[in-house]
Amino acid sequence: MTDSIKTDKVWQQDKNHFIHPYTDFSTFHEEGSQVITKAKGNFVSDSQGNTFLDGIAGLWCVNIGHGREDMADAIHKQITQMQYFNPFGHSTNAPASELAAEIAKRTPGDLNHVFFTSGGSVSNDSAFRIIHYYNNLRDKTTKKKIISRDSAYHGSTYFAANLTGIQATKSSFDSLGDELISYVSAADMYRRPIGAEQLTEDEYACFLANELENHILRLGADNVAAFILEPVMGAGGVLVAPKGYHKKCADICRKYDVLVVADEVVTAFGRLGQWFSSEAIFDFVPDVLITAKGINSGYIPLGATIISADIYRVISQPQCEGGVFSMGFTYSGHATACAAALKNFEILEQESLFDNVNKLGPYLQQTARETLLTNSIVGDVRGTGFMLAIDLVSNKQTKERLYQAQRVFEKCLEKGLIIRPVGNIIVISPPLTLTRDNIDSLISKLKEAIDEVSSEVLLGDNLDA
Ligand code: PLP
Repeated sequence: MTDSIKTDKVWQQDKNHFIHPYTDFSTFHEEGSQVITKAKGNFVSDSQGNTFLDGIAGLWCVNIGHGREDMADAIHKQITQMQYFNPFGHSTNAPASELAAEIAKRTPGDLNHVFFTSGGSVSNDSAFRIIHYYNNLRDKTTKKKIISRDSAYHGSTYFAANLTGIQATKSSFDSLGDELISYVSAADMYRRPIGAEQLTEDEYACFLANELENHILRLGADNVAAFILEPVMGAGGVLVAPKGYHKKCADICRKYDVLVVADEVVTAFGRLGQWFSSEAIFDFVPDVLITAKGINSGYIPLGATIISADIYRVISQPQCEGGVFSMGFTYSGHATACAAALKNFEILEQESLFDNVNKLGPYLQQTARETLLTNSIVGDVRGTGFMLAIDLVSNKQTKERLYQAQRVFEKCLEKGLIIRPVGNIIVISPPLTLTRDNIDSLISKLKEAIDEVSSEVLLGDNLDA
């Protein structure tokens, strides 16, 4: 079979049978998919022979870059030695136990106990199952309610989708109801809630923390189990909170015995230049920390729900009601996924990839701001470390959203760059191996693409066509 016939077959089978995540079926039915066939370093290629700079590290996850031989060797070695055996009850494997210990060395505070999963959504679901169980065991059986935030993204399982505050993800899907999960404002410096437009950064942080406190009081502190937040909101538009926000919120939660859950699925393992960002950058220690993605750079699915010593003490009491901690997955502590994570840690350290982010992150942010903000459809350019967003607007004064990120994405593809379009927002989250030259090329391609879209907008082109 020739390569092009093989590719046609892949394209057709995909169109006929593969249900893609987050896909617009109105165009998918006709156009099908771009078949990605190769991935190496900071680049990926498609079946047509086009090569692209990967501006999104697969999907915020391929931190060490694509197609690494050293990672392949580590995975191969583990598979030929002992690829998998279940960790239920008292059996274990070396990579899972070593990885749990390596994580515990690096987490903030006493977050020393790791429950492994296979991704971010499941880690979030697991967190809240554990939290409710923990509250039951300490006779706080009314503490069930969870507070999340508008524009938050926490995943796609039933529960995690309900933790998610992005309205566009909810149409026609059922909800668990606001009795269980409710939302406070996102910490959005660009589009602030009414009443907060003119506040200083510190005043705005207080405003948001007050909103959280009032929300807890309205629900009744005895009914509130936890507050969940991404240290930097990712899919919701790379929203960097006002300085001091996290600590203020965490202090309020402490006051009312409300647990703080930090969803670090994106912000851990170097994306912000640290192992974890909650304490190192944002000055708060969560009770539960969720992670996935960069934990093994996405080479094999893996996630983790990391809990404090206090939560572990309560849920691991031998005399606990029911006797057994009755939750776990076939792939909890999967030996090969954990071996990949250990190799990932080694590469992150040996290649000083956090230093690269700390050095080049400010250059990425500054170059993006200087180059893109002058365009009339760019309302905001924001981010930190290797997380960046460009907010498209039809009017800089009113900040009205311009839903043309998809169009920018298509133009970037023509120029050899992959970005992530989310409504009116362009998201960039490259591998941590990105070079200065890569950054220059990324920003110049992005500028060209945005300029083209902006000229078409000004010409009154039929943008929805
Ligand atoms: N939490 C955050 C902050 C995320 O960005 C994501 C995915 O992008 C998830 C959770 C869900 O992770 P997964 O897709 O691995 O289930």
